[in-house]
Amino acid sequence: MWGDSGGSGMSTDPRLVALRLAGNWGQKVERGEMELHNAFDLLVERIAAVVPAFRTCPTCGMTPCPDPTFCASCREADQKIAASRNCAQCGAGGATEPHKNNERRWIVYLHPQCVRFWRKTHR
Ligand SMILES: [Zn+2]
Ligand SMILES: [Zn+2]
Repeated sequence: MWGDSGGSGMSTDPRLVALRLAGNWGQKVERGEMELHNAFDLLVERIAAVVPAFRTCPTCGMTPCPDPTFCASCREADQKIAASRNCAQCGAGGATEPHKNNERRWIVYLHPQCVRFWRKTHR
């Protein structure tokens, strides 16, 4: 069964699967059963699962990333900053998320579980 990512019993080379699917989608487009852009998006998605360079970069949002080394160093720096941040509600560190403080117009960092407590006293 293709479409399964990982899992047991997967013996088919994912590159071959991508090629087979591409052929299948190509026929569908030619028969008018599928839009070209839909088929192509699926193809890019499928290739991205095999070739890392085709993945959308989580940092700059480009596919492929024009400068993976730069983006990797940005992510690292971000993670360091994130690790040194403390939650505006409880004061502890850890995985906080940015939230907009509409009263003061700045960004506060909060644990997901602290947001509702913080929202009681802030807007
Ligand atoms: Zn990037
Ligand atoms: Zn907290």
